[in-house]
Amino acid sequence: IPVDPFDLVIFGGTGDLARRKILPGLFRRFCAGQMPENARVIGAARTEMDRAGYQQMIREAIAEFNGDFEHDKAQLDGFIDRLEYVAIDAKGEDGWAELQKLMAGTERVEAYYFSVSPALFGDLAERLQQWGMADAQSRIVVEKPFGRDLKTAQALNATLAKYFDESQIYRIDHYLGKETVQNLMAVRFGNMLFEPLWNSQYVDHIQITVAETVGVGGRGEYYDKSGAMRDMVQNHLMQLLCLIAMEPPARFDPDAVRDEKLKVIRALDPVLPHHIARGQYQAEPCNEAEQPGYRTAVGDPRSRTESFVALKTHISNWRWAGTPFYLRTGKRMAARSSEITVVFKETPHSIFTEDAGRHRNVLSIRLQPNEGITLGVTIKEPGPGGMRLVDVPLDMTFADALGPDGSEQVDAYERLIMDVIRGNQTLFMRGDEVEAAWAWTDPIIQGWEARNDVPKPYDSGSDGPTDANELMRRDQRQWREYS
Ligand code: NAD
Repeated sequence: IPVDPFDLVIFGGTGDLARRKILPGLFRRFCAGQMPENARVIGAARTEMDRAGYQQMIREAIAEFNGDFEHDKAQLDGFIDRLEYVAIDAKGEDGWAELQKLMAGTERVEAYYFSVSPALFGDLAERLQQWGMADAQSRIVVEKPFGRDLKTAQALNATLAKYFDESQIYRIDHYLGKETVQNLMAVRFGNMLFEPLWNSQYVDHIQITVAETVGVGGRGEYYDKSGAMRDMVQNHLMQLLCLIAMEPPARFDPDAVRDEKLKVIRALDPVLPHHIARGQYQAEPCNEAEQPGYRTAVGDPRSRTESFVALKTHISNWRWAGTPFYLRTGKRMAARSSEITVVFKETPHSIFTEDAGRHRNVLSIRLQPNEGITLGVTIKEPGPGGMRLVDVPLDMTFADALGPDGSEQVDAYERLIMDVIRGNQTLFMRGDEVEAAWAWTDPIIQGWEARNDVPKPYDSGSDGPTDANELMRRDQRQWREYS
């Protein structure tokens, strides 16, 4: 179903994110027939080039980043024809008159995607207002990072609030655009089966792992000022934690959902120092030139920024009191995987004397790779071997509905951008959520700074520092295999 006619201006339209995710995602929506006839996508960036130059750039980007997506030349030409370009300076006056002219007099949804450094968010918002483009109908999409602590996030929220109402601001977290994340909500709230068990009486613990195999790559300078806690935990892992732990909202509408998420964040216990493991990856042995260690990659031999963090926290509310939540994320780990696992308690008594095993139901929600949800159930081992039990996965994934690996993130972006055009904020973070997440994260980071904490080294291609396993072992638990 096509969305309403729209103009989408992408500030930073020549940047990495625009070329890798946003425009390939829009192209897929175009091919799906979701972009109405007269919709326009307007790249706006500092680079001097004309419309034809931009169209060529995006043609190449689609070939490079969307190559495996089946389409014909007519579709590509049709999409490219929708592209406009304005060379613009967020901090100066160049290009604004031209953009204003392009946007003037059109009766359609106007969305402005801020795919630029957050340092420019305020300038863009101010310029949009100055040039009469920030009316009550317009929407802005802002990328991460949203601040680096509570203070900066509050300042950013205050700046944007000068020019836009909260209902116009779409803070993007592409994890929320993933099919499986939405399926998680369908599974939780569309079935009678799970919700009665979704509490500390039946759930032993919950794990959230976001493991990457890549290192900091070319982002070293930026990453070293941030670290895993700011770059991953405060936003992505926190959002996943909220969706898994929140109370059922009354309706699947933006504020009902976000009110419940906010309550989760506010109920999070502070994290005790001995409930955190911090790490920094080492060079890959015999391959130091290509896979350098963290400190070499960021160019600071004394860097104390973590590329890995694992922690245990609790949600102090009626539902979750006593159920630990274990979060872990890191770079240069053994496999690329994002997974939420709900580990249920063991049955209180085993009636099968021939079976020596201990069995638990485990619900795994896998975001990447191979998005899907599986429920581990215990059945009889087939054959005449007596009442021995075996754990088998019950697959709750419609695999055919999902794209092949690699297109997953594009998939998340395309869904979220269409939500912006539809005016649906459910899968976007509200300002108070972001601030509450920083209010929980800040003391952890401040604690490290006060103690001059040095992250523990860990081998590239491993599961992180041994402290992370120790965190689990102390509780007689273990991390789930994620490879
Ligand atoms: P990039 O450096 O590749 O591109 C930056 C873009 O901003 C370019 O198009 C450049 O022309 C434009 N720009 C810079 N200064 C400008 C100015 N004064 N006026 C107008 N335009 C200007 O950056 P990116 O990787 O595309 O990231 C963009 C945003 O998205 C950042 O906030 C980043 O944190 C966020 N983000 C990026 C990724 C990613 O995978 N690249 C992932 C998540 C979030």
